[in-house]
Amino acid sequence: MWDYLAEYEKEREDILDAVNTVFASGRLVMGDSVRGFEEEFAAYHGTAHCVGLDNGTNAIKLGLQALGVGPGDEVITVSNTAAPTIVAIDSVGATPVFVDVREQDFLMDTTQVAAAVTDRTRALLPVHLYGQCVEMGPLRALAREHGLRILEDCAQAHGARHHGALAGTLGDAAAFSFYPTKVLGAYGDGGATVTASDEVAERLRRLRYYGMADRYYVVQTPAHNSRLDEVHAEILRRKLRRLDTYIADRRAVARRYAEGLADTGLTLPRLAEGNDHVHYVYVVRHPRRDAVLEGLRAHGIELNISYPWPVHTMSGFAHLGYRRGDLPVTERLAGEIFSLPMYPSLPAGIQEKTISALREVLGAL
Ligand SMILES: *Cc1c(COP(=O)(O)O)cnc(C)c1O
Repeated sequence: MWDYLAEYEKEREDILDAVNTVFASGRLVMGDSVRGFEEEFAAYHGTAHCVGLDNGTNAIKLGLQALGVGPGDEVITVSNTAAPTIVAIDSVGATPVFVDVREQDFLMDTTQVAAAVTDRTRALLPVHLYGQCVEMGPLRALAREHGLRILEDCAQAHGARHHGALAGTLGDAAAFSFYPTKVLGAYGDGGATVTASDEVAERLRRLRYYGMADRYYVVQTPAHNSRLDEVHAEILRRKLRRLDTYIADRRAVARRYAEGLADTGLTLPRLAEGNDHVHYVYVVRHPRRDAVLEGLRAHGIELNISYPWPVHTMSGFAHLGYRRGDLPVTERLAGEIFSLPMYPSLPAGIQEKTISALREVLGAL
């Protein structure tokens, strides 16, 4: 499904130089590379602050805490997401409240959010899933009306645009993951939360550093040690300069799928109005998904499902009290979607083999 080795082959010198830069700098934790990456990632977004963190899950978790979300608060989000979104909400003691997603693009159905708002609602957490943005206008209007904060989950949407504005600049704060597979990926775990607010940024910096404002003196709890690693920060600085190229390459892969699979009965990704898609995952839909995947296996092709289980049906979230049937679109999708190989340096041979096998399997169904 994904292989970083082709990219490493191309970028090896730069990556090894990044590693050497850090090792030779005399400072292995929170040095010039973290500071430099934070400045450059904030500048890329035209926003004031980026706080480098250890992974995307903690970027959501600390982002929520920095926005004042804690025990007893409700956070409105979706169940059609990577489970870490919900793990993060749960881990600050808040309660995730789910709305369903739209048939056309599998993203948060913003028309359902108003009815989910209660006295305890504190924040909205739109997930820009697969690489395109949730419709933000209605969420911003609701946030203004009810005094709610907005945290964007941008773990799959680096560089995506919504009516021209970058994902990460559409709410009060935005959480990114730099897990290796992501649109901007490190060579290990990494994350960041960006914000235009000086106050939120200051809280984030304390939260990631034991709650300390200065060395050895804690001013804020509960706190964490959630720093972005210096080596990954330096690698990310180098890769950030190539982010727009990675996205262009992903779009080229997506165009080829759209062309090669146009008339097969597969439902292909649909672009929502005003969105520029970065195609983190290329998710297609078919009512006989399991038969299609079975047929592909006979061609030696094993595809992934993002995601096979809606979060609200997982046993680890039984305490939330949801049942099967509560989110019909999300539940139906989980049985019908699957993902095609998608990454910037995807070899053309793999893509063509996937397309021709799919055409054969679908033609014989
Ligand atoms: C990857 C991902 C996360 C978690 O990021 P990690 O760096 O793996 O902790 C959160 N939300 C979404 C939507 C993701 O895709």
